[in-house]
Amino acid sequence: MAAHAELDGTKTTPHNAVSLPRVSEPADENDVMREQLEYLIGHAIEQSSCGCSTCQRYLRVRSALLEIFSEPETQPAPRPTALPMAA
Ligand SMILES: [Zn+2]
Repeated sequence: MAAHAELDGTKTTPHNAVSLPRVSEPADENDVMREQLEYLIGHAIEQSSCGCSTCQRYLRVRSALLEIFSEPETQPAPRPTALPMAA
């Protein structure tokens, strides 16, 4: 009586890692960027620049995103109008 029952549960099933169900869609990266941006903004608001690595990332991202809005630094500062010399 050779009861050869292999009910151990260690069946080596072939793991089909080759068939990826989803391709890398670009929307995922955009969502990640939005989430990161919201996270960084939220941190900056809550911590008000505590100086950690997250704050450093926030500053870098902000400078990059606001680059087109930043005024050129080579612009000469407008001279304050001379105050009328009231006697
Ligand atoms: Zn911080």
